[in-house]
Amino acid sequence: SKNTGKNQVRFYDEELEQSERRRHQLEDELSQAITNEEFLLYYQPQVDAEGTTILKAEVLLRWQHPRHGIVNPDEFIPHLEEYGLIIPVGKWILEESCRQLKVWHNAGKHELCLSINVSANQFKHPDFIEFIEICLIKHQISGEQIELELTEGVAIHDIPSTIKKMDRLQELGIRIALDDFGTGYSSLSYLKHLPINTLKIDQSFVQGLPHDGYDAAIVETTMVMAHHLGLTVVAEGVENRVQLAFLKKQQCHLYQGFLFSQPLNVDRFSELIL
Ligand code: C2E
Ligand code: CA
Ligand code: CA
Ligand code: CA
Repeated sequence: SKNTGKNQVRFYDEELEQSERRRHQLEDELSQAITNEEFLLYYQPQVDAEGTTILKAEVLLRWQHPRHGIVNPDEFIPHLEEYGLIIPVGKWILEESCRQLKVWHNAGKHELCLSINVSANQFKHPDFIEFIEICLIKHQISGEQIELELTEGVAIHDIPSTIKKMDRLQELGIRIALDDFGTGYSSLSYLKHLPINTLKIDQSFVQGLPHDGYDAAIVETTMVMAHHLGLTVVAEGVENRVQLAFLKKQQCHLYQGFLFSQPLNVDRFSELIL
């Protein structure tokens, strides 16, 4: 009847209003997380084939939520992107990474490098390069000690301007890693057109090694190609010895995964390296 129809409309209105409220609440919580300094950085080692030397660490974002404890980035980074908050948070990540790296250098770990994730929106921001330059100078870090992990998303709209930015980063000595390699639609075309130094083999391909024929073939082929192109390869998500043995045979350069270490908070990572 007419009546039910009306009620239904009202019902949907209320539901919409409720989800709107939830959105606003999350947006507020994330904004407050910035002002209250609730974000923190974890560090996961990247080791050599012997598993003895930590050559680099990937910086991984966490949210110390006042009620829910440590929240993983997959749960909130998409929302930071949605609300444009990835720009200020991304700046904080770069700044805090450089500051902490300097602390470790001063403590004697002169060779340690950090690999920092950069989202496509952050990379596209007009101030991005300038911000990094200022950050390096301010914390007396040289570009060689930093690597940026980018995904295919960075160049979707504008390849020429992406190349220009990447060239500028390389002039500063900063290396560029292509993250989640093989999971996108145009990984190979990216390699051809963009100045990339490092490939990160996605953990979805490492998982099935050595028994899954597809994973094995994809990893082997990627390794051969990377050697031909002079690229450094990092295998991500290495969890066991058979995966490691397979990757070693392919002469992978760097290994990252739970087999060696979980991502660690700053105190635990300091203990590990110092
Ligand atoms: P990612 O860049 O691919 O990072 C690797 C993820 O794999 C991390 O999850 C890490 O904890 C996890 N991992 C490492 N070793 C293993 C392993 O042996 N087995 C398994 N199953 N997983 C492993 P995490 O820290 O939850 O980060 C998830 C994603 O969030 C990252 O994926 C990255 O896309 C994003 N992210 C994290 N930190 C940042 C950041 O600072 N900025 C930006 N823009 N994105 C970030
Ligand atoms: Ca990454
Ligand atoms: Ca990755
Ligand atoms: Ca990933």
